[in-house]
Amino acid sequence: MGTRFRLFVQPPFEDARSSPEIVEVSSPLGSLTAGPADNRMFVVEPVGKTGPYGVNRGPLGTPYIYLPPWTGKILEPATPDECGNFDYLRPSMAGFEAAHVFGCVRFTLDVWERYLGKPLTWHFDHYDRLEISILPRWDNAQYGYGFLEVGSQFENDGHVLPFSLDFDVIAHEVGHAIIFSVLGVPRPGTEYPEYLGFQEAFSDCVSLIAAMHFPSVIDNVLMETRGNLYLANRLARFSEFSPHRQIRSANNKRTMAEFARGWKDEHELSQPLTGAIFDILVDIFHESLVARSLISPAVEDLADIAEFDPTAEAPVQHAFDRAFARNSDGFIEALLDARDIVGTYLAETLWALAPDFLDYGDVARTMLAIDRNESGGQFARIISRNFGQRAIDELHAGAHVKGGEHRSHVLSARTLLPIDYLELPKMNYREKVLLSRSMSGQ
Ligand SMILES: [Zn+2]
Repeated sequence: MGTRFRLFVQPPFEDARSSPEIVEVSSPLGSLTAGPADNRMFVVEPVGKTGPYGVNRGPLGTPYIYLPPWTGKILEPATPDECGNFDYLRPSMAGFEAAHVFGCVRFTLDVWERYLGKPLTWHFDHYDRLEISILPRWDNAQYGYGFLEVGSQFENDGHVLPFSLDFDVIAHEVGHAIIFSVLGVPRPGTEYPEYLGFQEAFSDCVSLIAAMHFPSVIDNVLMETRGNLYLANRLARFSEFSPHRQIRSANNKRTMAEFARGWKDEHELSQPLTGAIFDILVDIFHESLVARSLISPAVEDLADIAEFDPTAEAPVQHAFDRAFARNSDGFIEALLDARDIVGTYLAETLWALAPDFLDYGDVARTMLAIDRNESGGQFARIISRNFGQRAIDELHAGAHVKGGEHRSHVLSARTLLPIDYLELPKMNYREKVLLSRSMSGQ
C-alpha cells in the first residue's frame, strides 16, 4: 500500500477554483516520517536562509560554493496522519507546501523509475539523501549537488506564487536529477551547447510525461481537443508560472536554423528538440488512432496538413469531434499508449547516450536505434521526419551569445560538482558511446 498526498495538477495561481487531487505514491504506507522524509530525500523549510545553494558571492564579491545541509532553524515539518498519509493536509494548513513538493517529486520518480527500469540513485555521493528545500524569497528553482530547491514567482501586481505548488516546475527539476544520474555531465572540453539544450528539453519531457499520469490531465486534454492534440494547451504548454515560461512551449515550430548563428539561453535552444519530441508523441497517438480504426488514414493525413495549412483546421477538428464522440475510451487508451512509447524511448535513449560531444543528432540517431530494437522500426518514419523538420543534425547550435547566463541553472548546478567527481573515470559511459554508435550504424 502506498502513501496518499493531495497534489495540484494545475497550480492554483491561474484558476483559484482548482483544487488538489488525492494521489497515491509508491512510498509504502507508514514509511514516511516528518518532513516529509524517507531514506532517499527529505523536505525542509529553512527559516532565515537568505540565498539559494550554488555559487554565491560573499559581501566583497568573492565567489564561494554554498552546499547543504541547512543547519539553521526550520519551520515545523509536515507530519503524517496516524495511518501514514499526508492527504489530510489542505492548502491553507501549515505543512501543505512541504508535503506537496515531496509528493510531486515522489510522483515524478514513480513514473520515470518505471521507464528507466530501476530506482534512481542521486548523482551525488557526499550526502545520503536529497535535501528538498523551500526558499520563498528566491525567484527560481534548481536541482544541484545534494539539493532540489524551489522559490517563488514574483508577479508584477505583488502576488507571490510558490513553486512548491507547481507540479511542472518540480517535475522539471526531477528531470535534471535523472539526467545527472543516468547520463552525467560532459568531461571538461567535451561539452557541446546542445548538451545544455538537451538538459532542458529532456527535463520538460519528464514533466510532460509525468503530468500525463494524472487521469484528469488526460481527460481534460481529450475533452478540450477531442484528440486533435496540436490544439492541446495543457500538454503543449508548460506551467504558465515556470521561471522560463515565456520561452517554453512543447507545441512550437522553432528549428535549429534560429540557433545556427548563435544562441543566448539553453531554454530557448531546447525548443526545437522539445517540439520534435512533442510532435513525435502526437504522431504516434494519431497512428495509434488509425490502427484502432478510431480515425481514418485520410483524417490523419489531413491533421498533418493542418499543421501548416490553416484551411485544413476546421475539417480536421470536425472529424476528430465525431470520432471522439463515438469512442472516447479508445482515445484514452491510444493516448496512454503513445505516452508510454515516448516515455520508454526517452528513458532508453538516455541510458544509451554519452554526455561528451552530445548533440541533438545523437539523440535522433539513438532514438531511431531504440525504435529498431523495440519495435523493428515501427516509428522510424515519424521519428526521422520530426527531427528533420527541426533541421536537427543538419544545423547545429552556433556560439554562445552573452546575455542569457543569469538564468542558467544547469551551469550553476554543474559548478557544484566537486572537481574530483568530474575527474572520476566514467568507464560505463565510454562503453555506452561505443554501444550507441554501433547501434546507430555509425
Ligand atoms: Zn531546467
